[in-house]
Amino acid sequence: MKHRDVELLAIGAGPANLALAVALEELAPAGLAAGSLVIEQADTVAWQPGMLLPEAQSQVSFLKDLVTLRNPRSRFSFVNYLHSVGRLSEFINMGSLWPYRIEISDYFKWVADSLTRVRLEYARRCTAIEPLRDADGTLTGWLTRLADGSTIGSRHLVMGIGRDAYVPEEFANLPARRVIHSTKYIQRIAELPKAVPYRVVVVGGAQSAAEMFDAVQSDLPGCQPTMVMRSIGLKTYENSKFTNELYFPKAVDGFFDARPEAREQILKEMHITNYSGLNPATLEKLYNSLYLDRLTGKGRLRVVTMHDVTSAREDSDEVVLELTDRRTGEVEELRCDLVLLGTGFVRAMPALVRGMADALGLERVTVNRTYKLDIPGPATAGCYLQGLNEATHGIADSLLSMQAVRAWEITNDVLAARAAGRPEASGEGVPVEPADDAPVPAVPVPVSAN
Ligand SMILES: Cc1cc2nc3c(=O)[nH]c(=O)nc-3n(C[C@H](O)[C@H](O)[C@H](O)COP(=O)(O)OP(=O)(O)OC[C@H]3O[C@@H](n4cnc5c(N)ncnc54)[C@H](O)[C@@H]3O)c2cc1C
Repeated sequence: MKHRDVELLAIGAGPANLALAVALEELAPAGLAAGSLVIEQADTVAWQPGMLLPEAQSQVSFLKDLVTLRNPRSRFSFVNYLHSVGRLSEFINMGSLWPYRIEISDYFKWVADSLTRVRLEYARRCTAIEPLRDADGTLTGWLTRLADGSTIGSRHLVMGIGRDAYVPEEFANLPARRVIHSTKYIQRIAELPKAVPYRVVVVGGAQSAAEMFDAVQSDLPGCQPTMVMRSIGLKTYENSKFTNELYFPKAVDGFFDARPEAREQILKEMHITNYSGLNPATLEKLYNSLYLDRLTGKGRLRVVTMHDVTSAREDSDEVVLELTDRRTGEVEELRCDLVLLGTGFVRAMPALVRGMADALGLERVTVNRTYKLDIPGPATAGCYLQGLNEATHGIADSLLSMQAVRAWEITNDVLAARAAGRPEASGEGVPVEPADDAPVPAVPVPVSAN
C-alpha cells in the first residue's frame, strides 16, 4: 500500500483547516507551508453542504472571514473574493454584514483554489490515526490511515473534522430511508419524488430544524410537515452586543483561565446566543407561513411544543413516533413517512479523535491553550484539535469567529516546536509577529518541543 510522509497533515478542508492553510502560506511560506498537506473526504470544498439552503445567511459578520482578524491585509479576505468574482459593489449595496451561506461556501472554495504552497487533496477520507514512537517511547509522529488503504506519516497533525451528527437513540432502529439528519438534508431530499404527499416530522426546536421545516414545504410541495420540540416554542437567539464580546478571539484567555464553575455558568448563559435560538428572520418567516396556513384553513403545518419523542418504530409502511407530553406525561402516537432530525451534533469528541485517544492510552481528551492535545510522556510530535474545544476555549470555538486567530496561534506553536526541534530548518522557525493593527493573541512559547 502507498505510504508518504509530510511535515504537517491537516485532516478536513472545512473553514478551520482552510484558515490554517492560509496562515501557513502567509507566515511560513518557504518551508512549513510547502511541507503541509490538507486532506478532505469530499470531492470539493463546501460549507456544511447538507444545509446549504439558497436563502440561508451566515450568522456572523463577513469580516470574521478566514483571515481578517489575523491579517486585515491578506489577499485571502472575503472582500478580495467579492472583488475577484465581480460582486463587490453589489455586496456593498446590499448593506448587510451577513453574507448568504452559499457565497461563504463559494468563498471557502475560492480560498482552497487560491492556495499556492499548501497542497489540498480531495476524496481522501481518514479512517484511523496511530501514534508513532521511537525505541525510548518518545512520540515522534503520526500514521494516518485513509479509506483507500494508503497511509500518511507526519510530525504535526491538525484535526479540523467538525463534529459527529447526533442521532438520538430513539431513532437508531429506524431504516435509513426514513430518517434524514440535517447534515444530509439537501442531498437526501433531492433523491425523493416531489409529488408524494409525505407526512414529515421535523424533530428539534433550533435553527437547523426550523430551516428544514421551512425548506421542506417547497422541496416536497405535497408534504404535510409537523415540527416537534421539547421547548415551550421557537425563540430568537439572544444577540446582545455586550455578551457578543464573548465571541471575540481575545475572550478565549478569560474563559480558558476561568474556574470550572465559571466556565459552566458562561456556557449555560451563552447557550441561547448560539444553539437554542433562531435568527429573527427565520422565525418571522415561519410564523407568517403558520398564520397563513391557519387563515386559509389548509391545516398543512403543525408545531408541537413541550413533547419528547420517546420511541420510534416502523409499522407496515409508516413510521410510528411515540410522543410524551412533558406537561402531563400523556403519551400519543404520531404516524408519519419521514423524520427530519434537527438534533445537532454529538458533544463528545468525534469517533476519529476518540480512536486516536484510545491508541494513545488517554482517558480524557484535553488540549492546552494553543489547542495542542495533552499527551503525557516525551514527545517531539504534536496534534492540534480545531473546533472541538468549547469546554475549555468557550462558546465560539466551533464558529467562524475564532478561525483566523486560532490558525495563527496553531501556526506559531508549530513554528516554535519546529525551532526547538530543528533550529537549522529555516528563517521560519520562530513565531511570527502579528500585523500592526491586528489583535495580539497570547501565544505561549512552549517550554519543550511537545
Ligand atoms: C447548518 C449550519 C450553519 C452554520 N452557520 C454558521 C454561521 O453562520 N456562522 C458560524 O460562525 N458558524 C456556523 N456554523 C458552525 C460551523 O461549525 C462552523 O461555521 C464551521 O463549519 C466549523 O468549521 P470546521 O472546519 O471546524 O468544521 P466543518 O465545517 O464541519 O468541516 C469539517 C471538514 O472535515 C471533513 N472531514 C470530516 N471527517 C473527515 C475524515 N475522516 N477525513 C477527511 N475529511 C473529513 C468534512 O468533510 C468537512 O469538509 C454552522 C453550522 C451548521 C451545521
